[in-house]
Amino acid sequence: MTTLLLDRRPATEVIAEASATTPRLVDPFGRAITYVRLSVTDRCNFRCVYCMAEKMTFLPHAKVLRLEELDRLCSIFVGLGVKKIRLTGGEPLVRRGVMNLVQSLSRRLRSHELDELTLTTNGSQLARYADELAACGVKRVNVSLDTLDAATFAAISRHGALSDVLAGVEAADRAGLKVKINAVAQKGITEDCAVSLIRWAHGRGFDLTFIEVMPLGDVEGAWSQRFMPLAELRANLSRHLSLLPTPYRSSGPARYWHVEETGGRVGFIAPMTHSFCESCNRVRIACSGRMYLCLGQEAAVDLGKVLRATDDDNEVAETIRVAVALKPKGHAFGASEASAPRGAARSISVTGG
Ligand code: SAM
Repeated sequence: MTTLLLDRRPATEVIAEASATTPRLVDPFGRAITYVRLSVTDRCNFRCVYCMAEKMTFLPHAKVLRLEELDRLCSIFVGLGVKKIRLTGGEPLVRRGVMNLVQSLSRRLRSHELDELTLTTNGSQLARYADELAACGVKRVNVSLDTLDAATFAAISRHGALSDVLAGVEAADRAGLKVKINAVAQKGITEDCAVSLIRWAHGRGFDLTFIEVMPLGDVEGAWSQRFMPLAELRANLSRHLSLLPTPYRSSGPARYWHVEETGGRVGFIAPMTHSFCESCNRVRIACSGRMYLCLGQEAAVDLGKVLRATDDDNEVAETIRVAVALKPKGHAFGASEASAPRGAARSISVTGG
């Protein structure tokens, strides 16, 4: 009211501006949904042991939305007030023609409808795409990298070469992209890799975040054999580095600590031992158009089917609004269940990490 009284512009203009900035997707718990993670493919050139089985069955091509369909879906979300889109996968940069989608979405950055377009990648294709991503207005990329030891890297990724990822990271840095490294904490591995990873990342000005491994997907080996609570990792790190808690927060669920020796920041995302769902602002969309309302729960709506059945974007938007009303309060795996957690049957490569 005060704004309307003090603002000398016509009321209609002020109201239009207010509704453009007011989030239009709000779930039953009052959380505004302004962030979409879009898996552009469920395929990946790696087979990380905690993410995928050695032999994977991927979606048939006919089920995968065409790039134009993904673009249309993104536009509908933007129309509903989504401000940030993260492309992920699978490996987003192995999807053929993916840069056409990035280019198309970049016009939403230029028009300021989107605040941010970014991606999560294993880094192996970044040497090829970093410059083009930067030219499209991408400012930051998250690169997944669990270790700097080439043999350990090959064992975790099964199909990956550390040198490709390091070349990709270098290219991204050179192109002016802000790089954040994400590492999955794994018992028996991360204890030995973490300090060198932190020193390496901070030496290059990159933030680094560790994440607890989640019980997702039909992977070989027991989750409990891999799981390392981040409190344990932090205690371990404290024997080598001085970690001081900081109030710094990014827009995500990480808690950050300052590393005195490097002057850098290390983040910890602990979905298994801490709940941060109260601030969840996101939905995840598989490359089939299936929208998952929570990473750790089955609640989903097939937007791909609706999208292909109608040319009317309003109809799709209405389906999204109804679906957001089904967003669960939080993921099911919690501290009390950590010894026998219940995850989702699908891999994070389907939902989009
Ligand atoms: N291929 C891209 C990449 O490597 O970043 C994007 C997709 S990948 C599924 C996204 C992130 O999910 C990666 O950082 C990966 O390590 C992480 N991830 C995969 N499976 C996980 C699990 N079970 N628990 C925790 N993080 C997982």
